[in-house]
This record gives sequence, structure tokens and C-alpha cells, in this order.
Amino acid sequence: MDIIHLLPDSVANQIAAGEVIQRPASCLKELVENSLDAHATHVRVIVRDAGRTLLQVIDDGIGMSEMDARLAFERHATSKIREAQDLFSLRTMGFRGEALPSICAVSQVEMTTRRAEDETGTLLEIHGSEFIRQEVCSCPVGTNIKVSNLFFNVPVRRKFLKTDQTELRNLLTEFYHIVLVYPKVAFTFVHNDEILHELPAGTEKQRIEAVFGNPKRNAYTSSFVEIKTETELVSVSGFVVKPESATRKAEQYFFVNGRYMRHPYFLKAVQTAYSGMLPNDYQPSFFIYFNISPESIDVNIHPTKTEIKFADEQAIFQILMASVREALGKFTLAPQIDFDTAGALDIPVPTDGPVSRPQVSVDPHYNPFHARNAVYPDKASKGWEGLYEGMPASREHVITEPQAQEHIFPGLQEPEVIAGPVWQFDERYLIAPRADGLLFIHQHRAHVAVLYAQFMDQLTHTQGAMQQLLFPEVLALPRNEMALLSTILPDLQTIGFDIEQLSPDSYSIQGVPAQIADRSAVPVVQEILLRVQERDANTREEWREQIALSLAESAAIPTGKTLTENERQDLVSRLLRLPQYTRTPDGKTVVSLIGNDEIGRRF
Ligand code: ADP
Ligand code: MG
Repeated sequence: MDIIHLLPDSVANQIAAGEVIQRPASCLKELVENSLDAHATHVRVIVRDAGRTLLQVIDDGIGMSEMDARLAFERHATSKIREAQDLFSLRTMGFRGEALPSICAVSQVEMTTRRAEDETGTLLEIHGSEFIRQEVCSCPVGTNIKVSNLFFNVPVRRKFLKTDQTELRNLLTEFYHIVLVYPKVAFTFVHNDEILHELPAGTEKQRIEAVFGNPKRNAYTSSFVEIKTETELVSVSGFVVKPESATRKAEQYFFVNGRYMRHPYFLKAVQTAYSGMLPNDYQPSFFIYFNISPESIDVNIHPTKTEIKFADEQAIFQILMASVREALGKFTLAPQIDFDTAGALDIPVPTDGPVSRPQVSVDPHYNPFHARNAVYPDKASKGWEGLYEGMPASREHVITEPQAQEHIFPGLQEPEVIAGPVWQFDERYLIAPRADGLLFIHQHRAHVAVLYAQFMDQLTHTQGAMQQLLFPEVLALPRNEMALLSTILPDLQTIGFDIEQLSPDSYSIQGVPAQIADRSAVPVVQEILLRVQERDANTREEWREQIALSLAESAAIPTGKTLTENERQDLVSRLLRLPQYTRTPDGKTVVSLIGNDEIGRRF
């Protein structure tokens, strides 16, 4: 007997929905993006109970014909691409034709829609992929989609939802990611009959003010300076906070071609531009918009993915850093220096690829501490030096040897030259001499940071190496954790676990990632589950981070272990190659520098 059969659409849609629609916020994103793709000028979002009972999006876009209205809910039905080739020149937000079928698989949808050229509109109702009715109706031009009782037929998903407060915060976060890149479109956001946002059409700056400003206070955006740099490769524009207005909690937004993205590496570029200007635990707020030809970024194939790969990340890093620095230099209180006579600081750019040298100059005499001597007395006296505190010792290369192009930034290639042997102290710390002082490194945390990067890389790019267990271990779990485990199982498999379900409440672990082969498997998996729950990690990105961190902590060399010279050298050089090596991913200090100054002061 043949045993293979095709899944009915309703089942296939529910499975796809698990990927695309994880919570009300992902539903909001898809619906609002559709409205924008339909050229809406005003988008209204109406929410009840943080999206659990109602999530409605009303737009004044192009609407749909009677036929299209029905087709829109079929899988892979899209008006946005016709062939795979189109993927590479994509400028619309959606293109997979998966959102609407996914949404209607897990909720009750009622939609009315009308095109300007039609006299009547279409009303369509679908509950859990099941067609209920389609009728001619009278309605305004545009589309009005009402999504009720999300996950009414998927109790597991419903249980995964957090408190209304958390889900509302998620909805707003998603909303901000979109409204900040569409300032010319007006938006309204209503929650339980309360208008939370009424955003008129305007400029980017006005939009930022409308979202984050408080009418009772000084303009929010007055604490920002504008950045603007155009190169052949990329154009960068937006706003970065003035150093004296920075706070501990920052709004940090990168956008590329009209889409929000996370980019830890570019974040590092901005932070580097601020080095020496902010107190230790302060972060710069910024809203930075990149425009780049779509061919030079990785198409955002996955709808929930917010990390984007660029073909020329290093060049953009430098353009971005120079651009921020230039903006920060511009608003200095000190008189402007003539760049030509003062010797402008050229930021070299790698020359592979079609990159033109960015036309950026930096005021080398800019001192952000002039106005704040009382707060930073020691930095104020240092002027130009203060700007680069925390920068790698090789900074002189930037200024005097533009040909030493690739070795400018900490952790990228090999800029952090260790000047001799690496010592171990108290079986806990490593001490490495460097041109600017002594690095004290916490050996366990350093290894956590290195392994974390390695595990994250495996989760996103490659498959981790697996070590088969001689004696499979059995993992028994309560029901709620079973559901959680099955959600994150594909990622555990990617990273090297071989886990199989034995019974409704147990799994057998037959293999583990090679890095933890000498640990007992069950506690490691339990620790992962615990962390994912505790940290509220409910997007794939978030739980991957927790998996990587949890494994890194299990696998890292403990304190109290003696390391050989080779191991010490290897650990330190791998650590310093990370884009962010001074702290662990959860913020613990890894490296402390005792500068030559301080050592000198002791004698
Ligand atoms: P995608 O956006 O990836 O094409 P969707 O499932 O989100 O897939 O939508 C399917 C199609 O339905 C879209 O390609 C578009 O033609 C149409 N559509 C969806 N929402 C709207 C809207 N608000 N206004 C006009 N057309 C829409
Ligand atoms: Mg869409």
C-alpha cells in the first residue's frame, strides 16, 4: 500500500502559520506591511486585549478585486513576484504569499475590500482556513481586515502568549519598526478604545518626535544630530544622540531599504564612534537609515528574520563610523577647524569591490567634554585623546598609515596585538600585555564569549558537529516543557543534538554537540529549557541566543583550571577577534584594561 499523501491545505497552512505567525505582533507586521505594499496613505491598527481577541488593520490602499480577494488567502498567492528572479530586485515588504493563508489558518478573519474603479466591494469570511462566506458589500476604497480570536484552534500557541502587557509591548515594538520608515504614511494605533498613537504624515524627524516625544517636555529630537553620508556603495542618513543627552536606556534602530534590522556589527561601529564620549554603562540612541542596492544585501527570505547580511560589511562599518563621528564633531562648541589646513582624518576603506572612498572628514579637535568639565574632569583635559579612549592601540594606523587598511578595528582581523606571553593568575584570570597596558581577562567568561559566537554561527549558517552517546539518556518532562522542547527542537538538532521523542512525556537523547561531549546531556538540555522560559525567549532569534548562551556556559572551561601557554594564547587571540569581546552576551565583564598611565602612576 502506498503511504505517502499530500497534506490538506488547512493542515499545511497551520504548519506554515507556526513559522510566520508566532504571536499577535507578527500578525500585525504582516497586515500592516500588506497595507503599505498596497500604497495606503493612512493605516489604522485597532487592537483588543493585546491582539488576543481582535487585531484589525484598516487601510485606504488599492484594495482587491472580487477574484483577488479570494485568491489572496490561497498559499503562495502573491501579486508581488512572478519568478524567482524577481526576488533579487525586491522592494516590497512581503512577497511570499504566505501571510494571509497563515493568519486565516489560526484565526477568524473577516475582510472587506474595494478598488477605486469598482462600485461595490467584497466581503469575505474565513475561520480556521474554512471558507464561511463571500458577498458583495458596500465599503470604502481600501482594505479592512479583522482578525479575531487568534490561535482559537491552536491551544498550544495560545498558551505561549505572554501577559497582555508583554504582548502589547511586542505589538508596539513591531509597529515602531514600521512607522519609523514610513513617515509619509499616517498611522493610528488604538488599544482597548484608547488611542495610543496618532501619527500624522511628515518627515522622518517629525515621525521620531511623534513616536517618542513628550509634548510636555523639550523636543525629543533636539537632543539628536543628523548624520548623512552618500557613497557609491551605500547612503547612510538619520539621527544620533548628542553624547551629553545619552542615557542608560537607548532607542537603537537600524533600517535598510525601508525595513528594520538588527545588526550587532554595525552597532559596534556606532559605539566605536562614541568611544570615550559616554560614561561606561551609557548607550547611544540612534535612528540610522541605510539605502543600498538590493543586490548587495541578502534577501530577507524569512519573514521573522531581522538580521540582514551585507556583501560589504567592513566597508559599511567604516563609512558608518566615520559618518557618526563627523556628525558628533560638527556640533562641537569649539570653533570649527579648517579641515584642509588642520589635516583631515581620512578613513580608509578596503578597495575590493565597487567602493568609492567616502567623502568624510572628522574634526580632530572636537572635544565633547568642553561643556562638561565638572562631570568628566580627567577626560576634559585630554581633548583629542579622550575621543579615542577605549579604541584599539593601533588607532595610529588610521591616521598615519592609510594603507594599513584592514587592521583598524578591534576584534576584526588582528588589530589587538598581544605583545608577549599570556599569563594565568589564580587559575581564573589571564593577563596579556599590550602596547597600551595590561589586559586582565576572565578565562571562563572569555571562553563563554568565544563559544557563544561559534554556536550562533552554527545555528545560523552551518550544522554543528555531533557526538553520538554510547548510552542514550532519557529526558522526562512536564507537559508544558514538552511543547517548548518540540518548538526549539529543530534548532537543537542543527546545533548537534540527536533527540527523539519516546513517549508523550519523554525524549531520548542519543547525541550531543561535540563541545559538550563530556557533560551529562540531560541537565544541559534542562538548563536550556529553563533559560528559554526564564528569558521569555519566544521568537526564534531569541531562543537561539539562549540556546547558544546556555551551551556556551556548559561547555566553557571553568575557573580553577590550569591552561597551557598554547591554550592561553589561543583563547585570547580568538576572544580578541570577536566583534564584541569586552562583555559576555549577557553583559558580564570579560576584559579589563589597566592602562600604562595607571601603572605609571603607581611608581
Ligand atoms: P504577500 O504579501 O507575500 O504577497 P500575503 O499573503 O500577505 O502575501 O498577501 C497576498 C496578496 O493579497 C498580496 O500579494 C496582495 O496582492 C493582496 N493583499 C493582501 N493585503 C492587501 C491589502 N491590504 N491591500 C491590497 N491587497 C492586499
Ligand atoms: Mg504580505
